[in-house]
Amino acid sequence: MIYFVGAGPGAADLITVRGKGLIEHCNQLIYAGSLVNPALLDFAKKDCEIFNSASMTLEEITGRFVYGEERGWLTVRLHTGDPSIYGAIREQIDRLVSLSIPFQVVPGVSSFCGAAAALNAEYTLPGVSQTLIISRAPGKTTVPPREDLAALAAHGASMAIFLSAALAGEVRQKLLDAGLPPETPAALVYKATWPEQKIVRGTVGELEAMQRELGADRTALILAGGFLADDYERSKLYDPDFSHGFRGGGGLTLFNEH
Ligand code: SAH
Repeated sequence: MIYFVGAGPGAADLITVRGKGLIEHCNQLIYAGSLVNPALLDFAKKDCEIFNSASMTLEEITGRFVYGEERGWLTVRLHTGDPSIYGAIREQIDRLVSLSIPFQVVPGVSSFCGAAAALNAEYTLPGVSQTLIISRAPGKTTVPPREDLAALAAHGASMAIFLSAALAGEVRQKLLDAGLPPETPAALVYKATWPEQKIVRGTVGELEAMQRELGADRTALILAGGFLADDYERSKLYDPDFSHGFRGGGGLTLFNEH
């Protein structure tokens, strides 16, 4: 059995309970290179066979899946954050399907969640934006033209831009081309939730300078949008003038007394 496990954004205790249990029991662990906190490998058994996928091809990874399956092993394929975001799991899954090898995906805390936590931010602020756009600038992997950052940013929604810190200057230009005012708040978050986490706050117009200040072009997210500012409306959910199915408008009820 193969488990694709989300390792979380960095801090070793931000993996799920299920993910940690699988690492503790697996016979073989293939982890995603520099992005996965090596402290997570310490959860593995002493005789667990551990491989860094950074130096492996898809064929070699598949070969290890087959090797483990032939021995009845439990294999963990550890991906950073959540495997569904830029995780390249689909091509692995399709090979497992064609080989009739059983597998399951275990979600993880994505780095865009880790970054929001680091900033005490809410992407979906009432009166500001109710939409989060997750995208990237094109690199070795192309981005469909209709998803050009300028086209996406034109919505004025909250934006979490992955894999693009090295391209901060280009991202800046795309966001300005979209019509975002240069003073739109922005933040760069490097290694969110890791001990070496670093945050640089500024504006869209300053993105390139912010990246130079950060001094890192990998493992960082570019966030942009009004959600990083201080103007918003309070929520209807906790508004005393707005009662709903779970709150009739009476006094506080201690959960234990239900
Ligand atoms: N599946 C991962 C993303 C993998 S793509 C997830 O859900 O987070 C790798 C990119 O993710 C990096 O280039 C960077 O933009 C971002 N990233 C991963 N971990 C990060 C972290 N701890 N802090 C900030 N950005 C991170």
